[in-house]
Amino acid sequence: MSDNQKNWPSLDAQYLWHPYAPVNVEPPPFAVESAKGVRLKLVDGRELIDGMSSWWCAVHGYNHPVLNHALQQQMEKMSHVMFGGLTHEPACRLAEKLVELTGRKLPRVFFADSGSVAVEVAMKMALQYWQARGDQQKKRFISLRQGYHGDTLGAMSLCDPDTGMHHLFSSILAQQIFVEAPACRFGEPCRDEDFAPMENSLRKHQAEVAAVIVEPVVQGAGGMWFYSAQYLQRLRDLCDELGVLLIADEIATGFGRTGKLFACQHAGIQPDILCVGKALTGGTMTLSATLTTQSISETISQHPPYAFMHGPTFMANPLACSVALASIDLLLESAWQSNVQRIERGLQNGLAPCATLDKVAEVRVLGAIGVVEMKQPVDMKTIQSAFVEQGVWVRPFGKLVYLMPPFVMTDPDLELLTSALYRVLAEL
Ligand SMILES: *Cc1c(COP(=O)(O)O)cnc(C)c1O
Repeated sequence: MSDNQKNWPSLDAQYLWHPYAPVNVEPPPFAVESAKGVRLKLVDGRELIDGMSSWWCAVHGYNHPVLNHALQQQMEKMSHVMFGGLTHEPACRLAEKLVELTGRKLPRVFFADSGSVAVEVAMKMALQYWQARGDQQKKRFISLRQGYHGDTLGAMSLCDPDTGMHHLFSSILAQQIFVEAPACRFGEPCRDEDFAPMENSLRKHQAEVAAVIVEPVVQGAGGMWFYSAQYLQRLRDLCDELGVLLIADEIATGFGRTGKLFACQHAGIQPDILCVGKALTGGTMTLSATLTTQSISETISQHPPYAFMHGPTFMANPLACSVALASIDLLLESAWQSNVQRIERGLQNGLAPCATLDKVAEVRVLGAIGVVEMKQPVDMKTIQSAFVEQGVWVRPFGKLVYLMPPFVMTDPDLELLTSALYRVLAEL
């Protein structure tokens, strides 16, 4: 082995950026050798129990033989072909599956390669729809505070203006309309006063609003907040009344994480446009999809320019589509619902002691998501290493220390994970 091969982790500091980080970030990233099941193996031989599912994605754990097999099979046929003028079985079958899973009300599927792009596509669908209808006014979006919808410029314009990056980019971001995050918690009713900020804003701006976008039930990266499903029912009704489209961003919540296959099902509502990503491929490849109604897709297609104006180079990548199909089948054949309920109980029991700590503001759990909200932001430099020393992979942000384990995590592993988290917080 050459020196270079032995020393590859040192190349990281020399050449790479990491998400939301400066160069030469401290502590340096931990070097991963491999991953299997719910464990990440570091190059120094240590094993970490994964509390993050690689940001909501790896619901089946890592290196799953069924997913690997699907990738290998597809690779033998073709890894990729362009989607302009060509089509293939994995895309056709996956589109049909997604349409079936979401109740057949959103029968048209656009594939893209990341969640952020799925959101851009959703925004462009809404804008093109109103243009096709001859309505030149409707070109703004209503979004919730504490929301997160991605990092590209369009998606970023929908993120919380304070916790997002608006102060840096405000001069070039589209100016959207922001509404207070719902105060009514999950499981509680949504009273008139809880819905008033949305109602007032929507009625006031109705003429210029193309769509409202929400992360249904669980606001993810913007605050890990769980809100009342009734809020979504009221929102659906009001959008219908006022003729405004509703976009559900289920990129984080889709595929079982909240206890339902899709979080909209807690409310029994259908959006006009739906974005999925993250766990779509079980965390193996990057892929996203934007689904919409017959009416929106036909209106766009029947008016100038007689096409939806978007087309990623790697659209509907066959490897990603095949592994997504395999992942969805694996999920549906598994006892995912009872697994998520089991993890919910494990998180409730395992994180309850954290609520007694002085530095903790609140503990909340929904489905396979457990959140410990601290009173002050944690110091990433020290806490990250502390978790690794305890043998777990947990990546907090700001005041939020949270777990979203793979659905396949056993109770003993979950207990190791939650007790390690407690020890780290208790020693802060
Ligand atoms: C992660 C996320 C996105 C962005 O997805 P990327 O694949 O990171 O571009 C958008 N919306 C929500 C709700 C997300 O959680």
